[in-house]
Amino acid sequence: MIGSVVIVGASLAGMNAAHTLRRDGFDGTITVIDADPNTPYDRPPLSKQVLAGVWDVDRIILPAAREDLGIDYRLGRRAMGLDRIDRFVRLDGGERIGYDGLVIATGAAARWLPGAPMLEGVHVLRTLDDCLVLREQLDEQPERVVVIGAGFIGAEVAAVCRGRGIEVTLLEAAAAPLERALGSEMGMVMAGLHRDHGVDLRLGVGVDGLEGTDRVAAVRLSDGSRIEASVVLVGIGVSPNTGWVEGSGLNVDNGIVTDETLAAAPGVVAAGDIARWPSARYGELLRVEHWETAIQMGEAAARRLLADHDETEPVTFDPVPWFWSDQYDVKIQLAGRSGAGDDVEVVIGTTDERRFVALYGRAGRVVGVLGMNRPRHVMQLRSLLTEPTEWAEGLARARKLA
Ligand SMILES: Cc1cc2nc3c(=O)[nH]c(=O)nc-3n(C[C@H](O)[C@H](O)[C@H](O)COP(=O)(O)OP(=O)(O)OC[C@H]3O[C@@H](n4cnc5c(N)ncnc54)[C@H](O)[C@@H]3O)c2cc1C
Repeated sequence: MIGSVVIVGASLAGMNAAHTLRRDGFDGTITVIDADPNTPYDRPPLSKQVLAGVWDVDRIILPAAREDLGIDYRLGRRAMGLDRIDRFVRLDGGERIGYDGLVIATGAAARWLPGAPMLEGVHVLRTLDDCLVLREQLDEQPERVVVIGAGFIGAEVAAVCRGRGIEVTLLEAAAAPLERALGSEMGMVMAGLHRDHGVDLRLGVGVDGLEGTDRVAAVRLSDGSRIEASVVLVGIGVSPNTGWVEGSGLNVDNGIVTDETLAAAPGVVAAGDIARWPSARYGELLRVEHWETAIQMGEAAARRLLADHDETEPVTFDPVPWFWSDQYDVKIQLAGRSGAGDDVEVVIGTTDERRFVALYGRAGRVVGVLGMNRPRHVMQLRSLLTEPTEWAEGLARARKLA
């Protein structure tokens, strides 16, 4: 029987776990711990509407945080250690919080440029506070912003800057933006999108260092050039926040490795950006940094704890990943697991008008669906990924929708 649940991480996965526990009838104590002192909030608007200044912060509070779920919140408190034998989480300051069931939902932290000094004007974007500091600097209309890394966050920040009339240089070490996720052909469609909006996009170029004394003054590139800028955004990916469970005996390997039901150990589940689960669908351990997956995992992890509680059969977790990004007036949606070496075929619309759907294929099967401003078609074509679909059949079914 589980009388108390501790959830570490009060973000999307953790709060959805809390909500699911209550909705499914758990009436024991729930303690939610988070190092971030802010009321739990949603992150996607941090690189979109909140950064652009069109949404108030109030609007991004997570729905579960608006409800009275009878939670004992410990916000602004960091978990420092985990004792699985005596079942407690140790907080900063030494306090111990005991649990019967534990949800680990500590997500990921933005990576810093290796070796770069902490100069004023250099930012990452993961938290609300990161967003508000960057927004304040954008409000001052800097002459140029340099964005290091043309992944989804970097690309969205570049789009917000252009929307504010700020000059942007977007740097990417690969030959095309998002090449690893989308391949080079679709990556170059993304490149065209940014260049047409006036972004100075430099591809295949690395960063040698940052210049400046207190405040950043310029970014030095590997091709010997130098770009003057008083604001720099580092968008080079994230690392899972696993440090606090070190020594606990959990399997930590680029995240917290769980079984196919999200259990990491007896009485311990993991969910969201931090969790890596064995996907039978893809035949590999997956750690997905997507909004929808974090919600689904929070729910599934809570149910996994309740299965122990109710002595019912745990359910396997294996959804098709799905992601979206908003850049300028374009909604980009990506379902499945596409990669750089996949076949790519545009099946609906054209890339020129940036209103299209492309399918990705690997080993004779459909593995991904990419859409630009085609939300209805992307939703319809997600069914090609839920069951194995032959490449030729997938193309034919998709073209029928055109
Ligand atoms: C700017 C931005 C834009 C995004 N846009 C999109 C998008 O358009 N589409 C999409 O699909 N996804 C998007 N994402 C990804 C999506 O937001 C994440 O997948 C989601 O937030 C993951 O939720 P999570 O609960 O697993 O982890 P997180 O949101 O990372 O939350 C983890 C929480 O754990 C806390 N924590 C960490 N360590 C400790 C500790 N030791 N003690 C206590 N607390 C701790 C952190 O403070 C944090 O609140 C975006 C992410 C960001 C940052």
